Amino acid sequence: MRRKISIFGATGSIGQNTVDLVQRQGGAKNYNVIALSGAANMALLAQQAIDLHAEIAITALPEKLPELQALLQNTNIETAAGADAIAEAATREINWGMSAIVGAAGLNASLGIARQGATLALANKESIVCAGELLLRECRKYNATLLPVDSEHSAVFQALQGADHGALQRIILTASGGPFKDFSLAQMQDVTPAQAAAHPKWDMGQRISIDSATMFNKALEVIEAKHLFNCEPAQIEVIIHPQSIIHSMVEFVDGAILAHLGNPDMRGPIGYALNHPNRNPLPLEHLDFSKLSRLDFQAPDPTRFPALRLAYRVLETGGLSGAVFNASKEAAMDGFLAGKIGFLDMALLVEKALNDPYLNDQIAADVFSQNVITKIDLAARQFVNALIKNG
Ligand code: NAD
Ligand code: MG
Repeated sequence: MRRKISIFGATGSIGQNTVDLVQRQGGAKNYNVIALSGAANMALLAQQAIDLHAEIAITALPEKLPELQALLQNTNIETAAGADAIAEAATREINWGMSAIVGAAGLNASLGIARQGATLALANKESIVCAGELLLRECRKYNATLLPVDSEHSAVFQALQGADHGALQRIILTASGGPFKDFSLAQMQDVTPAQAAAHPKWDMGQRISIDSATMFNKALEVIEAKHLFNCEPAQIEVIIHPQSIIHSMVEFVDGAILAHLGNPDMRGPIGYALNHPNRNPLPLEHLDFSKLSRLDFQAPDPTRFPALRLAYRVLETGGLSGAVFNASKEAAMDGFLAGKIGFLDMALLVEKALNDPYLNDQIAADVFSQNVITKIDLAARQFVNALIKNG
């Protein structure tokens, strides 16, 4: 039987890599593609939908719908637009779904896939950071299989296969350190969005690349690891490893450390999630140890990269503080991209949001209510936007 699959965020970096792997594994011959979603790039979305014989193509942007309809007019592919249409498409029955929309906007797709009892390939780490309890509860309730697509968490997940979870001592997440690893604070003060988005090791979307430059990406990943692997904050460690060859490690109580290695290519973790529980050949450059001269490690600098400290604070506080953290970070990045604030202001604004008494009152609300999560997400964005507006 052909597996029914959907890809949300199909036109993005993760989405295009997913489509590429699906095509290489037979495309529409082997997969019954239900939904593909995108936002701005209608030519690409329409082409993907035609190539994969999708049932429906959805754009997040209603103003783009006429363009999508025109591109697909001679096909029997349905079209739709807007966040509600994406949420509706995510309720269509599938066996496997990729959640690869960027930002908290991806939560509905993650929840929809989970509620099919499908395999949820989770690239959208923001879902689990802002709504970890809710998303994991829905996965349990509907018997969905959650497979992390973040390279670090895929590495940890793979290293934990067959392991005695009770014997887990530490999870060691590796971080490339981003483009400003060796910048001084003074140098970081003036960097532009274009500089921040140019990642030295991984080819990724603009927002996650900037998150890597601030290390907010690693901060999100610390929170993600806590939810996925159900461990204590003190068991999660971050180490800078500029070559990005070790994708992460787990240590057991007997001191044994298992590491996942490979060249940095997201088709590794995407392919693992696509083929799970099997392994298929993937179009990756295999690692040649004779060409690896060295692997370096260094501790992250908390002064230049305060995001990590804030992530541990979120873990200690619990409740909905992950939603405040993520939403304030997204709003601060919007401000940075619009040229309204500097690079270092992003962490300052997130810390202000975490300190805000009103937002702190809200974080004790129901962690299982999507309405509550949406409300606190909005309140945190408004808080940061007001600070940006008032200089
Ligand atoms: P991207 O910006 O390249 O693509 C994002 C996708 O989401 C696109 O299809 C875009 O059209 C769509 N989109 C954007 N805004 C939207 C909105 N408001 N509503 C609906 N759709 C919208 O991003 P990416 O790099 O592919 O990252 C996707 C997710 O995967 C993010 O959560 C990111 O943190 C995570 N991730 C990415 C990588 C990577 O290598 N790119 C690695 C690990 C995790
Ligand atoms: Mg990652």
